[in-house]
Amino acid sequence: MNQVDYLRISLIDRCNFRCQYCMPEGAELDYLLRQELLTNEELLTLLQEVFIPVGFRKFRLTGGEPLLRPGVVDLVRAIASLPETQDLAMTTNAYLLASMAQELYDAGLRRINISLDSLNPETFDKVIGNRGRSRWQQTWEGIQTAHRVGFDPLKLNVVVIPGVNDQEVLDLAALTIERCWHVRFIEFMPIGNAQLFGESAWVPSEELRQNIRDTFGLMESNVQGNGPADVFQIPEAKGTLGFISQMSECFCDRCNRMRLSADGWLRPCLLNESGQIDLKTSLRNGVDLIQLRANVRQLLMIKPEINFKERESGTPGTYTRTMSQIGG
Ligand code: SAM
Ligand code: SF4
Repeated sequence: MNQVDYLRISLIDRCNFRCQYCMPEGAELDYLLRQELLTNEELLTLLQEVFIPVGFRKFRLTGGEPLLRPGVVDLVRAIASLPETQDLAMTTNAYLLASMAQELYDAGLRRINISLDSLNPETFDKVIGNRGRSRWQQTWEGIQTAHRVGFDPLKLNVVVIPGVNDQEVLDLAALTIERCWHVRFIEFMPIGNAQLFGESAWVPSEELRQNIRDTFGLMESNVQGNGPADVFQIPEAKGTLGFISQMSECFCDRCNRMRLSADGWLRPCLLNESGQIDLKTSLRNGVDLIQLRANVRQLLMIKPEINFKERESGTPGTYTRTMSQIGG
Protein backbone atom coordinates (compact mmCIF):
# COMPACT_ATOMS: atom_id res chain seq x y z
CA MET A 1 0.00 0.00 0.00
CA ASN A 2 1.21 3.49 -0.82
CA GLN A 3 2.45 5.49 2.17
CA VAL A 4 0.06 8.41 2.73
CA ASP A 5 2.17 11.11 4.35
CA TYR A 6 1.13 14.26 2.51
CA LEU A 7 -1.62 16.60 3.73
CA ARG A 8 -3.01 19.43 1.63
CA ILE A 9 -4.40 22.05 3.95
CA SER A 10 -6.92 24.60 2.76
CA LEU A 11 -6.50 27.80 4.75
CA ILE A 12 -9.51 29.65 3.39
CA ASP A 13 -12.27 29.02 0.85
CA ARG A 14 -12.33 32.61 -0.47
CA CYS A 15 -10.36 33.89 -3.41
CA ASN A 16 -9.49 37.19 -5.11
CA PHE A 17 -9.81 35.51 -8.55
CA ARG A 18 -12.83 33.88 -10.16
CA CYS A 19 -11.18 31.34 -12.44
CA GLN A 20 -13.66 30.03 -14.98
CA TYR A 21 -12.87 26.41 -14.16
CA CYS A 22 -12.93 26.80 -10.40
CA MET A 23 -15.31 29.37 -8.96
CA PRO A 24 -16.75 31.24 -11.96
CA GLU A 25 -18.33 34.66 -11.67
CA GLY A 26 -21.98 34.26 -10.73
CA ALA A 27 -21.54 30.84 -9.08
CA GLU A 28 -23.39 30.84 -5.80
CA LEU A 29 -20.93 29.66 -3.21
CA ASP A 30 -21.67 29.59 0.48
CA TYR A 31 -18.52 31.05 1.96
CA LEU A 32 -17.45 29.95 5.38
CA LEU A 33 -17.79 32.42 8.21
CA ARG A 34 -14.59 33.32 10.02
CA GLN A 35 -15.65 31.32 13.10
CA GLU A 36 -16.16 28.25 10.93
CA LEU A 37 -12.51 28.22 9.82
CA LEU A 38 -10.08 26.14 11.83
CA THR A 39 -8.04 28.63 13.85
CA ASN A 40 -4.24 28.59 13.59
CA GLU A 41 -4.16 27.05 17.06
CA GLU A 42 -6.62 24.29 16.14
CA LEU A 43 -4.74 23.56 12.96
CA LEU A 44 -1.44 23.27 14.80
CA THR A 45 -3.04 21.02 17.44
CA LEU A 46 -4.34 18.74 14.67
CA LEU A 47 -0.93 18.64 13.01
CA GLN A 48 1.04 17.95 16.18
CA GLU A 49 -1.39 15.67 17.96
CA VAL A 50 -3.15 13.86 15.13
CA PHE A 51 -1.54 14.06 11.70
CA ILE A 52 2.14 13.86 12.62
CA PRO A 53 1.63 10.95 15.04
CA VAL A 54 -0.14 8.94 12.33
CA GLY A 55 2.67 9.55 9.85
CA PHE A 56 2.05 12.78 7.89
CA ARG A 57 5.29 14.63 7.19
CA LYS A 58 4.63 16.79 4.11
CA PHE A 59 2.26 19.71 4.07
CA ARG A 60 0.91 22.04 1.40
CA LEU A 61 -1.02 25.21 2.16
CA THR A 62 -3.70 26.00 -0.39
CA GLY A 63 -7.27 27.28 -0.66
CA GLY A 64 -9.14 29.27 -2.03
CA GLU A 65 -6.30 31.74 -2.07
CA PRO A 66 -4.02 30.99 0.90
CA LEU A 67 -2.42 34.46 0.85
CA LEU A 68 -5.81 35.91 1.85
CA ARG A 69 -5.71 34.03 5.13
CA PRO A 70 -4.99 36.39 8.03
CA GLY A 71 -1.85 35.28 9.85
CA VAL A 72 -0.61 33.07 7.01
CA VAL A 73 3.05 33.99 7.59
CA ASP A 74 2.85 33.04 11.29
CA LEU A 75 1.27 29.76 10.33
CA VAL A 76 4.03 29.05 7.82
CA ARG A 77 6.63 29.80 10.49
CA ALA A 78 4.93 27.51 13.01
CA ILE A 79 4.55 24.57 10.60
CA ALA A 80 8.06 24.99 9.16
CA SER A 81 9.54 24.87 12.64
CA LEU A 82 7.88 21.58 13.66
CA PRO A 83 10.78 19.11 13.81
CA GLU A 84 8.77 16.44 11.96
CA THR A 85 7.95 18.66 8.95
CA GLN A 86 9.91 17.27 6.00
CA ASP A 87 8.36 19.47 3.36
CA LEU A 88 6.21 22.60 3.41
CA ALA A 89 4.85 24.07 0.19
CA MET A 90 2.12 26.44 -0.97
CA THR A 91 -0.15 26.74 -3.99
CA THR A 92 -1.14 30.33 -4.80
CA ASN A 93 -2.37 32.50 -7.64
CA ALA A 94 0.58 34.86 -6.93
CA TYR A 95 -1.49 38.04 -7.07
CA LEU A 96 -0.30 39.06 -3.58
CA LEU A 97 3.07 37.35 -3.82
CA ALA A 98 5.27 40.29 -4.82
CA SER A 99 4.77 41.87 -1.40
CA MET A 100 4.75 38.61 0.58
CA ALA A 101 7.34 36.33 -1.03
CA GLN A 102 10.28 37.47 1.09
CA GLU A 103 8.50 37.16 4.45
CA LEU A 104 7.12 33.75 3.47
CA TYR A 105 10.62 32.62 2.56
CA ASP A 106 12.04 34.03 5.79
CA ALA A 107 9.31 32.18 7.71
CA GLY A 108 10.56 28.89 6.25
CA LEU A 109 8.51 28.30 3.10
CA ARG A 110 10.74 26.93 0.33
CA ARG A 111 8.47 25.55 -2.34
CA ILE A 112 5.70 27.28 -4.17
CA ASN A 113 3.32 26.33 -6.99
CA ILE A 114 1.71 29.15 -8.89
CA SER A 115 -1.34 28.95 -11.12
CA LEU A 116 -0.72 30.71 -14.42
CA ASP A 117 -3.05 29.77 -17.25
CA SER A 118 -1.89 32.29 -19.82
CA LEU A 119 0.98 34.59 -20.78
CA ASN A 120 -1.39 36.81 -22.64
CA PRO A 121 -2.88 39.49 -20.36
CA GLU A 122 -6.23 39.47 -22.15
CA THR A 123 -6.64 35.70 -22.01
CA PHE A 124 -5.35 35.67 -18.45
CA ASP A 125 -7.97 38.21 -17.35
CA LYS A 126 -10.64 36.23 -19.15
CA VAL A 127 -9.64 32.99 -17.40
CA ILE A 128 -9.54 34.57 -13.95
CA GLY A 129 -12.85 36.34 -14.51
CA ASN A 130 -11.39 39.84 -14.22
CA ARG A 131 -13.41 42.72 -15.59
CA GLY A 132 -11.49 45.68 -14.15
CA ARG A 133 -7.85 46.70 -14.42
CA SER A 134 -5.74 43.84 -15.74
CA ARG A 135 -4.28 41.61 -13.05
CA TRP A 136 -1.69 39.96 -15.26
CA GLN A 137 1.21 42.33 -14.54
CA GLN A 138 0.93 42.10 -10.76
CA THR A 139 0.67 38.30 -10.99
CA TRP A 140 3.74 38.12 -13.24
CA GLU A 141 5.62 40.37 -10.80
CA GLY A 142 4.63 37.97 -8.01
CA ILE A 143 6.16 35.11 -9.98
CA GLN A 144 9.37 37.06 -10.71
CA THR A 145 9.70 38.04 -7.06
CA ALA A 146 9.27 34.42 -5.93
CA HIS A 147 12.03 33.47 -8.36
CA ARG A 148 14.36 36.23 -7.12
CA VAL A 149 13.72 35.43 -3.48
CA GLY A 150 14.88 31.88 -4.13
CA PHE A 151 11.85 29.61 -4.16
CA ASP A 152 13.08 26.44 -5.70
CA PRO A 153 11.61 24.59 -7.45
CA LEU A 154 9.21 27.18 -8.78
CA LYS A 155 6.29 25.38 -10.38
CA LEU A 156 3.64 26.88 -12.61
CA ASN A 157 0.26 25.11 -12.86
CA VAL A 158 -1.72 25.43 -16.08
CA VAL A 159 -5.26 24.07 -16.45
CA VAL A 160 -5.73 23.58 -20.16
CA ILE A 161 -9.19 24.43 -21.47
CA PRO A 162 -9.99 23.88 -25.13
CA GLY A 163 -10.77 27.13 -26.92
CA VAL A 164 -9.59 29.23 -23.97
CA ASN A 165 -5.83 28.71 -23.49
CA ASP A 166 -4.94 25.52 -25.38
CA GLN A 167 -3.30 27.60 -28.13
CA GLU A 168 -0.72 28.78 -25.56
CA VAL A 169 0.62 25.41 -24.55
CA LEU A 170 3.79 25.80 -26.64
CA ASP A 171 4.53 29.29 -25.28
CA LEU A 172 4.03 28.09 -21.73
CA ALA A 173 6.17 25.01 -22.33
CA ALA A 174 8.90 27.24 -23.82
CA LEU A 175 9.25 29.04 -20.48
CA THR A 176 11.24 26.02 -19.29
CA ILE A 177 13.90 26.31 -22.00
CA GLU A 178 15.79 29.19 -20.41
CA ARG A 179 14.41 29.03 -16.87
CA CYS A 180 14.76 26.34 -14.27
CA TRP A 181 10.99 26.35 -13.76
CA HIS A 182 8.57 23.43 -13.81
CA VAL A 183 5.49 23.99 -15.92
CA ARG A 184 2.74 21.50 -15.17
CA PHE A 185 -0.24 20.98 -17.38
CA ILE A 186 -3.35 19.80 -15.53
CA GLU A 187 -6.30 18.14 -17.23
CA PHE A 188 -9.48 20.09 -16.54
CA MET A 189 -11.69 18.15 -14.11
CA PRO A 190 -15.49 18.16 -13.85
CA ILE A 191 -15.40 19.90 -10.52
CA GLY A 192 -16.18 23.58 -10.03
CA ASN A 193 -17.71 24.52 -13.38
CA ALA A 194 -19.67 21.60 -14.77
CA GLN A 195 -21.20 23.77 -17.51
CA LEU A 196 -17.84 24.85 -18.92
CA PHE A 197 -16.61 21.28 -18.61
CA GLY A 198 -19.64 20.06 -20.55
CA GLU A 199 -19.12 22.70 -23.27
CA SER A 200 -15.32 22.60 -23.66
CA ALA A 201 -14.30 19.25 -22.16
CA TRP A 202 -10.61 18.62 -21.60
CA VAL A 203 -7.42 17.97 -23.54
CA PRO A 204 -5.66 14.64 -22.87
CA SER A 205 -2.05 15.12 -21.75
CA GLU A 206 -0.78 12.90 -24.56
CA GLU A 207 -2.22 15.34 -27.10
CA LEU A 208 -0.29 18.18 -25.45
CA ARG A 209 2.87 16.10 -25.34
CA GLN A 210 2.56 15.28 -29.03
CA ASN A 211 2.19 18.95 -29.85
CA ILE A 212 5.27 19.85 -27.79
CA ARG A 213 7.23 16.87 -29.15
CA ASP A 214 6.52 17.95 -32.75
CA THR A 215 7.79 21.48 -32.10
CA PHE A 216 10.63 21.24 -29.57
CA GLY A 217 11.21 17.52 -29.04
CA LEU A 218 10.40 15.91 -25.71
CA MET A 219 11.97 13.26 -23.54
CA GLU A 220 11.08 11.66 -20.24
CA SER A 221 12.92 13.37 -17.41
CA ASN A 222 15.09 11.20 -15.23
CA VAL A 223 13.87 13.18 -12.23
CA GLN A 224 10.35 11.90 -11.53
CA GLY A 225 8.68 13.43 -8.45
CA ASN A 226 6.65 11.37 -6.02
CA GLY A 227 3.44 13.21 -6.92
CA PRO A 228 0.86 12.61 -9.65
CA ALA A 229 2.79 14.39 -12.44
CA ASP A 230 4.58 12.52 -15.22
CA VAL A 231 7.72 14.55 -15.78
CA PHE A 232 9.22 15.30 -19.21
CA GLN A 233 11.75 17.74 -20.58
CA ILE A 234 12.46 19.60 -23.79
CA PRO A 235 15.99 18.48 -24.81
CA GLU A 236 18.62 20.85 -23.31
CA ALA A 237 15.94 22.81 -21.42
CA LYS A 238 16.77 24.03 -17.92
CA GLY A 239 13.33 23.26 -16.50
CA THR A 240 10.86 20.42 -16.80
CA LEU A 241 7.30 19.81 -17.95
CA GLY A 242 4.81 17.93 -15.80
CA PHE A 243 1.54 16.39 -16.91
CA ILE A 244 -1.19 15.68 -14.40
CA SER A 245 -3.61 13.41 -16.17
CA GLN A 246 -6.31 12.55 -13.70
CA MET A 247 -8.92 12.32 -16.47
CA SER A 248 -7.02 10.22 -18.99
CA GLU A 249 -5.12 8.07 -16.50
CA CYS A 250 -5.93 6.69 -13.10
CA PHE A 251 -3.06 7.25 -10.69
CA CYS A 252 -5.05 6.42 -7.56
CA ASP A 253 -2.67 3.60 -6.76
CA ARG A 254 0.16 6.13 -6.28
CA CYS A 255 -1.97 8.58 -4.29
CA ASN A 256 -0.06 9.67 -1.20
CA ARG A 257 -2.32 12.45 0.06
CA MET A 258 -5.37 13.56 1.97
CA ARG A 259 -7.03 16.95 2.09
CA LEU A 260 -8.10 19.04 5.05
CA SER A 261 -10.66 21.72 4.22
CA ALA A 262 -10.60 25.17 5.82
CA ASP A 263 -13.53 24.11 8.04
CA GLY A 264 -11.79 20.98 9.20
CA TRP A 265 -13.20 18.17 7.04
CA LEU A 266 -10.62 15.51 6.26
CA ARG A 267 -11.14 14.03 2.84
CA PRO A 268 -9.34 10.93 1.58
CA CYS A 269 -10.01 11.49 -2.13
CA LEU A 270 -10.29 14.68 -4.15
CA LEU A 271 -13.02 13.35 -6.38
CA ASN A 272 -15.07 11.50 -3.83
CA GLU A 273 -16.64 12.62 -0.59
CA SER A 274 -17.07 9.14 0.86
CA GLY A 275 -15.57 8.63 4.24
CA GLN A 276 -14.71 12.25 5.01
CA ILE A 277 -14.65 13.17 8.69
CA ASP A 278 -15.32 16.42 10.52
CA LEU A 279 -12.29 17.00 12.72
CA LYS A 280 -13.15 20.57 13.70
CA THR A 281 -16.48 19.74 15.32
CA SER A 282 -14.91 16.79 17.14
CA LEU A 283 -12.08 18.99 18.37
CA ARG A 284 -14.45 21.74 19.51
CA ASN A 285 -16.68 19.18 21.26
CA GLY A 286 -13.71 17.97 23.24
CA VAL A 287 -13.35 14.55 21.62
CA ASP A 288 -10.20 12.92 22.91
CA LEU A 289 -7.16 13.42 20.62
CA ILE A 290 -6.42 9.69 20.95
CA GLN A 291 -9.85 9.03 19.44
CA LEU A 292 -9.20 11.53 16.61
CA ARG A 293 -5.95 9.76 15.80
CA ALA A 294 -7.80 6.44 15.72
CA ASN A 295 -10.40 7.95 13.36
CA VAL A 296 -7.70 9.23 10.98
CA ARG A 297 -5.88 5.87 11.10
CA GLN A 298 -9.15 4.15 10.21
CA LEU A 299 -9.60 6.53 7.26
CA LEU A 300 -6.06 5.78 6.09
CA MET A 301 -6.92 2.08 6.11
CA ILE A 302 -10.02 2.46 3.95
CA LYS A 303 -8.62 5.16 1.62
CA PRO A 304 -7.66 2.73 -1.16
CA GLU A 305 -11.29 1.62 -1.42
CA ILE A 306 -12.67 5.15 -1.60
CA ASN A 307 -10.38 6.61 -4.22
CA PHE A 308 -11.03 7.57 -7.81
CA LYS A 309 -11.26 3.93 -8.87
CA GLU A 310 -14.57 3.76 -7.09
CA ARG A 311 -15.96 6.08 -9.76
CA GLU A 312 -14.62 3.87 -12.50
CA SER A 313 -16.20 0.83 -10.98
CA GLY A 314 -19.56 2.59 -11.14
CA THR A 315 -19.90 4.09 -7.67
CA PRO A 316 -20.60 7.76 -8.34
CA GLY A 317 -18.23 10.25 -6.75
CA THR A 318 -19.86 13.33 -5.29
CA TYR A 319 -18.89 16.89 -6.22
CA THR A 320 -20.80 19.14 -3.92
CA ARG A 321 -17.68 21.23 -3.26
CA THR A 322 -15.46 23.15 -5.69
CA MET A 323 -11.65 22.94 -5.68
CA SER A 324 -11.58 26.26 -3.83
CA GLN A 325 -13.75 24.75 -1.09
CA ILE A 326 -11.91 21.44 -0.84
CA GLY A 327 -8.38 22.81 -1.12
CA GLY A 328 -7.07 22.02 -4.59
N1 SAM B 1 -5.78 29.77 -5.44
C1 SAM B 1 -4.63 28.97 -5.52
C2 SAM B 1 -4.25 28.72 -6.97
O1 SAM B 1 -5.07 28.91 -7.85
O2 SAM B 1 -3.10 28.32 -7.20
C3 SAM B 1 -4.75 27.66 -4.80
C4 SAM B 1 -6.05 26.92 -4.85
S1 SAM B 1 -6.51 26.28 -6.46
C5 SAM B 1 -8.07 25.56 -6.08
C6 SAM B 1 -5.39 24.94 -6.63
C7 SAM B 1 -5.25 24.36 -7.99
O3 SAM B 1 -6.48 23.77 -8.39
C8 SAM B 1 -4.90 25.37 -9.06
O4 SAM B 1 -3.69 25.02 -9.68
C9 SAM B 1 -6.05 25.29 -10.04
O5 SAM B 1 -5.61 25.51 -11.32
C10 SAM B 1 -6.58 23.89 -9.80
N2 SAM B 1 -7.98 23.72 -10.21
C11 SAM B 1 -9.08 24.37 -9.76
N3 SAM B 1 -10.20 23.92 -10.36
C12 SAM B 1 -9.81 22.94 -11.23
C13 SAM B 1 -10.50 22.08 -12.15
N4 SAM B 1 -11.82 22.14 -12.31
N5 SAM B 1 -9.76 21.20 -12.86
C14 SAM B 1 -8.41 21.12 -12.70
N6 SAM B 1 -7.71 21.89 -11.84
C15 SAM B 1 -8.39 22.81 -11.12
FE1 SF4 C 1 -9.01 31.19 -6.92
FE2 SF4 C 1 -7.20 29.32 -7.30
FE3 SF4 C 1 -9.78 28.78 -7.77
FE4 SF4 C 1 -8.49 30.44 -9.39
S1 SF4 C 1 -8.04 28.26 -9.07
S2 SF4 C 1 -10.53 30.81 -8.48
S3 SF4 C 1 -7.08 31.45 -8.04
S4 SF4 C 1 -8.89 29.23 -5.82
